[in-house]
Amino acid sequence: MVKNKFIPRRATSQRRVRGANVSSTLSLLKSQGAKSKQAKSKEPKSKESVVIVHAAKGSVSSEKANIQTVMVIACHPDDVEIGMGGTIASLIAAGVQVIIADLTNGEPTPHGSPEIRAKETKEANIILGITKRIIIGLKNREIQDTIENRKKVANVIRRYRPEIIFSHYWNDAHPDHVAASTLVDNARFYAKLTKTDLEYEPYFPRKIIYFHAMHLKASINPSFIYDISAFQTIKSRAVAAYRSQFANNPKNLNILERLKHNDSYWGGLIAKEYGEPFTLKEVLAVTNDEALLNV
Ligand SMILES: [Zn+2]
Repeated sequence: MVKNKFIPRRATSQRRVRGANVSSTLSLLKSQGAKSKQAKSKEPKSKESVVIVHAAKGSVSSEKANIQTVMVIACHPDDVEIGMGGTIASLIAAGVQVIIADLTNGEPTPHGSPEIRAKETKEANIILGITKRIIIGLKNREIQDTIENRKKVANVIRRYRPEIIFSHYWNDAHPDHVAASTLVDNARFYAKLTKTDLEYEPYFPRKIIYFHAMHLKASINPSFIYDISAFQTIKSRAVAAYRSQFANNPKNLNILERLKHNDSYWGGLIAKEYGEPFTLKEVLAVTNDEALLNV
């Protein structure tokens, strides 16, 4: 059996039982990005074969995933797990390298500390199968879309060269989330600039997709829903790893129940058990009849 360092053991066993489906729209995005020749990252990549498990057939092949690298840029450790933990686990299982860039270390919070939060984040990484996670080093509760911060984020984008960036939905009650959404939009643009003092070579990610880890109690109208039926359990366990934020915080005791309920709702809209919603600002292109079937 071919080994793949990107596939967590727990995800593999669950995937074999229930299948590793991707949403039709992300498949469409994959088809759009698959043939793109991206410049090589400065970061050396694994030379191991990427393995995709065909759950329905119960077999393993060495096909390469259509997407090589995605980057999730979020404000606080636990945002990505809440917003798209199931999608992350699914992408990793499909052989995609998922890099997490937390803008802050998430502290201070009422029941946490930098040390506790780092330990919890490490645990969540293991559960989801994340092998690359960095902290950009902005100050919690004070994230702003400044020139300096755009350059910090743009340097990270230029260094790792993800085909797709995921970040916060732009309408939220937490000012960090709102600022981060704008900051990442602008950092994506800065990343392609020439004749600047930015590090690394210019680079422009093909897509930016917004996940929903919202404090605002507002309804949303997502552009697509990603099927996480095979990965909701893993997501829940990753979120639960942040005990300082949930199990040890009386105000957030029912977070897992609420997340599962929400995931069930979104999954129901695409006739699946669980799903996670995502929103785009740009329209989707359809370039062939197969893609049209998946819209
Ligand atoms: Zn947050």
